[in-house]
This record gives sequence, structure tokens and C-alpha cells, in this order.
Amino acid sequence: YPVPTPVNEPIKSYKAGSPEKIALKAAVAQMRSEELDVPMYIGAEKVTTDDKVRMAPPYDHQHTLGYFNRGDADHVEQAINAALGAKDAWQSLSWEHRASIFLKAADLLAGPYRAKINAATMLGQSKNAFQAEIDSACELIDFLRFNVHFMTQIYSQQPISSPGMWNRLEYRPLEGFIFAITPFNFTAIAGNLSAAPAMMGNTIVWKPADTQIYSAQVIMEVFKEAGLPDGVINLIYTDGPVAGDVVFNHRDFAGLHFTGSTAVFQQLWKTIGENVTKYRTYPRIVGETGGKDFIIAHKSANPKAVATGIVRGAFEFQGQKCSAASRAYIPQNIWDETKAKVLSDLDTITVGSPEDFTNFVNAVIDERAFDKISGYIDKIKASDHAEIIAGGGYDKSKGYFIEPTVVVTKDPMFLTMCEEIFGPVITIYVYHPEHFEEALELVDKTSDYALTGAIFSDDRYAIELATKKLQNAAGNFYINDKPTGAVVGQQPFGGARGSGTNDKAGSVLNLLRWVSPRTIKETF
Ligand code: GLU
Repeated sequence: YPVPTPVNEPIKSYKAGSPEKIALKAAVAQMRSEELDVPMYIGAEKVTTDDKVRMAPPYDHQHTLGYFNRGDADHVEQAINAALGAKDAWQSLSWEHRASIFLKAADLLAGPYRAKINAATMLGQSKNAFQAEIDSACELIDFLRFNVHFMTQIYSQQPISSPGMWNRLEYRPLEGFIFAITPFNFTAIAGNLSAAPAMMGNTIVWKPADTQIYSAQVIMEVFKEAGLPDGVINLIYTDGPVAGDVVFNHRDFAGLHFTGSTAVFQQLWKTIGENVTKYRTYPRIVGETGGKDFIIAHKSANPKAVATGIVRGAFEFQGQKCSAASRAYIPQNIWDETKAKVLSDLDTITVGSPEDFTNFVNAVIDERAFDKISGYIDKIKASDHAEIIAGGGYDKSKGYFIEPTVVVTKDPMFLTMCEEIFGPVITIYVYHPEHFEEALELVDKTSDYALTGAIFSDDRYAIELATKKLQNAAGNFYINDKPTGAVVGQQPFGGARGSGTNDKAGSVLNLLRWVSPRTIKETF
């Protein structure tokens, strides 16, 4: 199959005076100076409504970035009709043409749109230049290029035939439309949840989180400029239940591609189950949800490496990653050294606006997230069972800022060892170095999630033991590295248990969910 073999998009440095930094600063200044009126994209129409919702940078909430146009049930209906109307032409277009649209979109993001998509992610989602570059440029580009590559692997999987007979698999898209519900925390995930099923010939109704609409519309512009036909992806902004009411009662609902909270996903699954007799076909349900991701160190571990894993794993991206390390199990013999390095690393870290290009930790996404995270910090402060050894401060006067916070507890079942916080807070349990197996038990039993986890050790037997004992505790398991930062094409991403359906974003496994193959046998 004549598609280019992908390589991961190189991450640009954004060092002082670099062309990428100059371009990004200009794009941020430009976007700050305008007040956008962001339309929905339904079929060929850019739709505005009277229900304008203000958008602000999470780190500077008095500034107005613009308004998005909130839709109602009629708009959801129109988006479904547009998706169904576009379906026949789109699915009969040969795969090479679908592929070239997404390859062109990747090139546009890598070139002329790079500064714009990164600026939108900085302003709208409070990511610093490096975080934005990794997410909205590199990862989104990689999803598009690698998925085209995986698509060709799927199409080339064919059954055997024999003389007088030819068997083949026709990789049809699903019958109906796909509903993509996408999160605020990764622009790349938002783009991919709509693009991946579309690539396979499906048409989509895409509902992003309100807090990601600012960058979602840039993705839409890119898809349109790359030649995506009208109606293939329809971008709507409604409240979740408004869209859900229409979508999950529709006969042609064929699949859900979701990233978000466990509670919402479980509720949607129930609704789909209750409505199952209404649908033409069993809908595919693909979701990535929460995490309570761990680091466990063995007594043989290098304390400096463990400390780096803690700081980067817990605090990069403000801890607002499903994969972020939020509990750690450290043996007593390396604790003093680990702690000293964590504290000295934290001394070098600043919290503040992404626009000054030096802050490692930026604001969390919105007031709701801020209140939830600071509420946990208050409970920790009020408890006799845990102690804050770094951070613990928060301030929402200008933006939703929370200091990177390190908590130590003697109770391995302490509240913040168990519950997902989704912010820059990690809780550490220090265990007896001879009780490694018991610590592994704790890791496995403490949480119902199973997204990511990491073991640090220099002892091969300990690494093997952890890998075996924690077989079901993480869908992405890291040996001597932080549990975050999966790269498309290198570490397919996803977890099971309460963390999702584990359909590995950025892999053949995910794309397979968006086809409904027909077996054709022909005799001669
Ligand atoms: N893929 C990202 C990582 O490995 C996390 C994605 C998420 O937060 O959903 O860190």
C-alpha cells in the first residue's frame, strides 16, 4: 500500500529566538486581541445561535477570548441528519482519498497551522508551549499519520482462498453515525476521537467539552482546508444531556467514541443498554475514562530516577492527564534521598501563566476542577493521617492556580491514595523495604482503575514480579520511567477495569472498532 511510513513528528524546542517561538507568540497575541464568535459546523453550514457562552483563558479568567454558540436539540438532530446525508458518498470514496485528506490535515498542522493550534491550546486549555506542542501539534499529527498507516494494515488483512474460490473481507464502516464525546485535557484526543472513525468511512457527530471548543474549531478549520467533505464531521456545542437525549434515542446511532469521566461513561453505557432495541445495529462503545495511576519503587531503585518520575509524572500538564501519577509506594531505604530530590526539583518549578514561557505548572482547566482539587487539599490539611510536604497552596483570584502538592500518608488506604483527583496532587505511602510483595498487593487492590503504572527497580526479579502481579492493574505499564507520555505508534494507550474499554488509541485495535466487515465468498 503506497502510503508513507510514518515517523513521529519531531518536538520543536521553543527556545529563545527560535522561529517557532516567534510564530507562537505572534499567534497568541493575535488570538488575545480578537473576540471570536465560534460557530458550530453542521453539514455545509457554520451555525450561530442566540445562546452565546463566554470563553476565557483558565489562567486569566477576566479576559474574554470570545463566545461559542450553544446549540439545542434541533441542532443535534440537524447534525445527525448531516452525518447520515454525507454517509453514502463518504463511504464509497476509495480509502486512498479519505487517507489523503487526513494526511494533508497532518501536514497543515505540522506547517501553517502549527502556531495557531498551539496558541489555541495554550489560551483555551492553559498549556505551556511545550505541553501544547506535544499535544496539539505532535500527538494530533501522529494520530492522523499513524492511523492512516494502521488503516492500510487492516484493509490488507484478508482470508485465504483456494482454486475455484475467492474469499475476501470488505471493511465496511458501521451502519449509522458515530457520536464522539471528547475531553478538555488533550486537543489531540479530541481530534482523534472524531478523525479515527471518519477515516474508516464513518460520519460523525462531535461534541467537545465546552472548555476545548476554542481549539476544536481550529481542528475543524484544518479538516475543512484539507478537503473533508461537508457532513463527514459535524461539530456541535450542547449540554451533554441535550445531545444524549437525541443521539441515544436515534435508530441510526452506531457507536460512541468517548474520553471523559468514569461516572459519565457508565451512565451513557446504561442509557445505550436500555435503548438497545431501538437501534438498527449493536452500537460500538469505546471509552477511555479515569485513572488512579501509580508509581511503585523497589528497594533497589535509583532514588533520583524515582523522584524525577514523581515530579514529571504527577505535575506535568498540571496533573490533568488520565495517566498522571497520583499515588506512589516508596520503600523506606530510598525515601530520604527520593524526598530530598523531589523537594529540590520542586524548588525550581514555577506556577503561573503559560504565556511567560517558563512556568512548568499552569492553571487547571476551570473553577469546577479548581474547587474539586482544592477541596481535596483542604481535607488533607484537616486530616491526622496525612501530611503535605510540598505545595498545598491555591489561588483563583486571577486564574485557577494550584501548587504542585506532595502528600505523605501512613495509611495506604487514605482518601487521596484511592480517589481520582485529576490535578497536581500526589500521595506517597512509605513501606517497609522487605514488604515489596505486600506493596504490590496494595497497588493492585487500592483502586478500581487500571490505566497506567510504573515500577522503578534495578533488580530484574523484582521487575518481573511486579510485571506479573500487576498484570491487570494498568493498561500501560512502564519499567523505570514515569507512567505518562505515551507516544502514538510507540506505546498504544488505554486501560481496562474502571479506566475504559482499552481499545488502545493510536493503534489497529482502535480502528478495528470502527469497521463492520462483510465476508464475501465467490466461487468460479
Ligand atoms: N496519552 C497520554 C499519556 O500517555 C494521556 C492521555 C490522557 O490523559 O487521556 O500521558
